[in-house]
Amino acid sequence: MPEAAGQGGGSLVIASNRLPFDYDRGPHGLERRPSPGGLVSALDPVLRKRGGCWIGWPGSGVRPGDDVQGPDDPYRIVPIHLDDVEVERYYRDCSNRSLWPLFHSLPGRAAFDPESWDVYHRVNARFAESLLTEVNDGPLLWVHDYHLMLVPEMVRAARPQRTIAFFLHVPFPSYDLFTLLPRHEELLRGILGSHLVGFQIPGDVKNFLECAERCLGAEVDRSAESVRFEGRTIRVGAFPIGIDYSRFEAFALSAPAAAQRRERVILGADRLDYTKGIAQRIQAMERLLLQHPEHIEQVTLVQIAVPSRCQVAEYQELKCEIDELVGRVNGRFATASWSPIQYLYRSIGHDRLAEMYRDADVALVTPLRDGMNLVAKEFAACQVDDPGVLVLSRFAGAADVMAEALLVNPYDLEGTAEALHQALCMDEPERRRRMTALRTREAENDVHSWVDTLLRTATESRRG
Ligand code: UDP
Repeated sequence: MPEAAGQGGGSLVIASNRLPFDYDRGPHGLERRPSPGGLVSALDPVLRKRGGCWIGWPGSGVRPGDDVQGPDDPYRIVPIHLDDVEVERYYRDCSNRSLWPLFHSLPGRAAFDPESWDVYHRVNARFAESLLTEVNDGPLLWVHDYHLMLVPEMVRAARPQRTIAFFLHVPFPSYDLFTLLPRHEELLRGILGSHLVGFQIPGDVKNFLECAERCLGAEVDRSAESVRFEGRTIRVGAFPIGIDYSRFEAFALSAPAAAQRRERVILGADRLDYTKGIAQRIQAMERLLLQHPEHIEQVTLVQIAVPSRCQVAEYQELKCEIDELVGRVNGRFATASWSPIQYLYRSIGHDRLAEMYRDADVALVTPLRDGMNLVAKEFAACQVDDPGVLVLSRFAGAADVMAEALLVNPYDLEGTAEALHQALCMDEPERRRRMTALRTREAENDVHSWVDTLLRTATESRRG
């Protein structure tokens, strides 16, 4: 067991909305499985290696008093229980219906109501209290993502000597979009309670600095990447998140040999979320078959859609929309022995996913907007045989650090279809050249080096 993992402190304390597990009440009591999404994929290996404590909401199936800790967990799990009103207002309304669409530059999907803000504030206060009471002095407190933007200032106000880092996994929007939020100044103040504020890419840093300057009158030093606010200096920077590269590569190397398949495979793997551009992707596939009919019966789009936020109305509507679209395109092009789209509405474990990444000819990763996108990186890590091609949205943070991908505008269906055609026709030397560059960079900048850099910078910012 890693150092001090079973005690209050541990080496790292993480607070995020969700814990690394989803819990269900089954016939044998509480059952758990890994939570979907990039945040857990990135941070679970880090806490497993370092030990420490993870504070988060275990989901509505868990009651106070239930044991959420597994017998062999190498770190401590601290649940924050939310009642039904809190789940509705803090999680579904404020986090998922206001902040998520707005931060992904989709303001048309955002709704704002004052009651949900009040509950967001209350739940953030509960997380802050838990951070203060559950954890001994010492380790760094690391707060994650848009659900908990008020927590850093709440903790700082109560315990100014604690070192606090905040990392935003999603994009930070432009000033024009951010200021649509009725309570945007409070969010900025909340984040600025940290010693270090980390974002995925420099564009997010630029947006945040502009908002801090224009909304709060904070003094911004762009070359030093710092903000001077209420007598304190806060370090702000871009820290593009990496993946557990060697774990994915090892899965790909040890998976059974690829089964013989007649068609080539284009792979998509996402949570079923409107930011992921799944509908546009299916339409781009349709265009490909129209514009380049030579691919008919020669290529299949395998699209994994992981169920996500199933209680939120927009996500239920999206599921219907995608079901219909898949049915329409399959109905239009399928032959007796082939369908253009294989649609898997479920979550696939990392070992099997790594095999699917390895055996795909093309990964089609086309979010409308994404903080980073780990699927793009995992695909590269798993290209251990004949290298495939990554077709990547220019609106994913990953595009900043994966220049050797074929970059596309996901709204441009024709352009995406042409990029798919180019990917399917690319010769082996070019595929290898591009993929080798992508793999080398991701191996060097994996999730462990991301954490090392962030923690080192947090410690320096505390001293500075
Ligand atoms: N994922 C998974 N099973 C699946 C599909 C995806 O475990 O069937 C994981 C994938 O390995 C990745 C994460 O879900 O680590 C998705 O992260 P990403 O950053 O791409 O998007 P997010 O869901 O965080 O918005």
